[in-house]
Amino acid sequence: MRALSLLLAFAVVAMLCGAIPASGSSSHAKFRQGESLKSPSEFLADASPHAAQFRDMLAAHFRAKGKGKGKINLAQAPAGNYSVGVGIADVTGQVAEIGFMGYATPEQKGAGLQQRLRSRAFIFVDDHEDSKTSGKRVVYVSADICMGFQMMKTNILDKLRARFGDLYTDANVMLSGTHTHAAPGGIGGMALVDITTLGFIPENHWAAVDGIVKSIERAHDNIKPAVVKMNVGQCDNCNINRSPSAYLLDPDRAAYANDTDQEMTVLRVEGRDGTEMGLVSFFAVHGTSLNNNNSLVSGDNKGYASYVVEKQKNPPGTLPGEGAFVAAFGQSNEGDVSPNTRGAACPDGSPCDFVHSTCGDPARGQTCLATGPGVDQYDSMRIIGQRQVDAAMRLYNSASVPLSAAGVDYRFQYVDMESVEVSGKFTSTGRTEHTCPPALGYSFAAGTTDGCGAFDFVQGTTEGNPFWDWVSGFLSKPTAEQIACHAPKPILLNVGQVKPISWSSVILPEQVFRIGQLWILAVPGEFTTMAGRRLRGMTRQLLQAAGEWTDSSHIVIAGLANSYSHYITTYEEYQQQRYEGASTLYGPHTHAAHMQNFAGLVEALVAGQPVPEGPQPLDMRNHTMSFMPRIVEDTVPAGVSFGDVHTDVQPSYKIGQTVRVSFWGASPRNELFLESSFLFIEQLQSDGSWRRVLVDSDIETRFLWERVQDTQSRVTVEWDLEPQTTEPGTYRITHQGRWKKQPEILTPYWGESSTFTVEH
Ligand code: ZN
Repeated sequence: MRALSLLLAFAVVAMLCGAIPASGSSSHAKFRQGESLKSPSEFLADASPHAAQFRDMLAAHFRAKGKGKGKINLAQAPAGNYSVGVGIADVTGQVAEIGFMGYATPEQKGAGLQQRLRSRAFIFVDDHEDSKTSGKRVVYVSADICMGFQMMKTNILDKLRARFGDLYTDANVMLSGTHTHAAPGGIGGMALVDITTLGFIPENHWAAVDGIVKSIERAHDNIKPAVVKMNVGQCDNCNINRSPSAYLLDPDRAAYANDTDQEMTVLRVEGRDGTEMGLVSFFAVHGTSLNNNNSLVSGDNKGYASYVVEKQKNPPGTLPGEGAFVAAFGQSNEGDVSPNTRGAACPDGSPCDFVHSTCGDPARGQTCLATGPGVDQYDSMRIIGQRQVDAAMRLYNSASVPLSAAGVDYRFQYVDMESVEVSGKFTSTGRTEHTCPPALGYSFAAGTTDGCGAFDFVQGTTEGNPFWDWVSGFLSKPTAEQIACHAPKPILLNVGQVKPISWSSVILPEQVFRIGQLWILAVPGEFTTMAGRRLRGMTRQLLQAAGEWTDSSHIVIAGLANSYSHYITTYEEYQQQRYEGASTLYGPHTHAAHMQNFAGLVEALVAGQPVPEGPQPLDMRNHTMSFMPRIVEDTVPAGVSFGDVHTDVQPSYKIGQTVRVSFWGASPRNELFLESSFLFIEQLQSDGSWRRVLVDSDIETRFLWERVQDTQSRVTVEWDLEPQTTEPGTYRITHQGRWKKQPEILTPYWGESSTFTVEH
């Protein structure tokens, strides 16, 4: 039954993503139910008085509890004494034949590498001798992975415990994913998100886990007295809202000029000796500049931004990932936020249906797609990445407010999200409400305007379809109570009730860090713009009521952190059931439940009280399933050896051209070459030696892999001779790999191009 369920679900997802041709459906019109929704003005009329009361109620709640008495005024507090360590490590998994995580498009598979994926760790230690939290520390990790997973964190903590004992724990380590959709999948051990990568892929999981641990160890090993300065500003033209019709239902939107957060927060870390150590940026934008037809592993716009700043701040000639200066471009509340700033349109350039994101008659979702500002997806990635770099460097260079002496603290708690009773103080209805067992709605399968519109599903679907109800009923049939609980979401995948192991997280981690006057709220999923604003707004109210708020106090959200529970929209956005609403797992009051959870954590932190650990999440380590075939062997044609040149370089090139060489190679899945490279661009030096000037992680190079026969591989290296970065000279290109022979014997090989010259 379990195997049948998995196969069926795989077929469902494959069909949803267009891998299997659509059969005729006459019931399409039934899905277009947006018309029956309340208009924005109706919502405003009924919900705004409640929204206005919300702040007062929270403040009153805190006053009633006697919090906020006798607190120091942090505005007068001196700059803080901190020690900080920064570290970076390679987390790149298998770059070939593996499905990428994010778009859930089974046919999107790796065929090479544009840029290596990294984990970037920052450890902040409270060094104030007289502080109540003296000696406390927190670890913020931003990794180029689609999202943080519970099982990854469990393995990371096991490894950290082996070296550091209880120094680093679930509570003081925060693992946030940058949400790149161009990273190898199968890393998390969560059945639902692993379906399109043929299950769990241990090599990718451990590449990520080991790299994250290494980045934390490196940060630990270079902890030193430091000054942390904070700055907040704007990143203009860096994002747009991809579900603006749902945002319009938010009654509190009038308080904001934009339907996305354009705010960027930057931390500048420097040693007390003045050495620049690193930068952390928080900014909300999806890692979907690269589309679902991209086949090159990449950190997308945030990975690119990190690469550019690290290149700029480390000494000339430093190879990617090897410099002491580390720049993390962390994710935030990006749920409804797209980097594709030209917005969505139909193929003929006409606008898509506003509520359903469809084109044509009959209305279909797949052709309503958003595009970025560039000439192609790679150009768009660089533009959106560079805009984040420009904004971050402006803020970094003018950062002058040091993090205060309020010290380092944190609270962490697991919550059983399917059975939260949410107080009327937090719900949009003003009544006590409940969360539901996790389930995904029909519009989950429609995808977004960033990719993968499904054949029969459109966004904004609030009514089921008998055929799909029957199909999804094989997974687990929702009860009448569940259906009512999730309304108006029609349940497509009743993921929480799949036996024997739930396909979705039920016990979620919630986490708050305090570093001086900076508050970091780690959310285990994708909060939309307004969902994040309300969480920050509530936190601010709580801190004000508790007397902990100063002129320079600031709150950021770290997204996709520690575990993954899909999306979190506001109650009002949920009513429209676009992709994000349909992917809000625990029903209409999911967001309110998070608000209540975070209120508890913040309240406890400012009061100096502990919080209960909460129920432990299921340990998924013995429950993963893998269907990805292993590499059997690699071969080359008769008369050829591994590493032989297939198509050589030309003798000379001009700057602006692309150098290209192909080798007879092997599957790159045999060896990941972590902290190294599949390729080296080597320049001839005056003493006759060769110096490695570029590697596979550099933006100018591409490592491309293709299977030419069942067991034969061709590897191509491309190098764009970009005017800003290329010196004239004599060069060669080398490639390293390992080929496999049964039984499991791996042999290293090298390839080397002829030498060539590069001229102006
Ligand atoms: Zn997303």
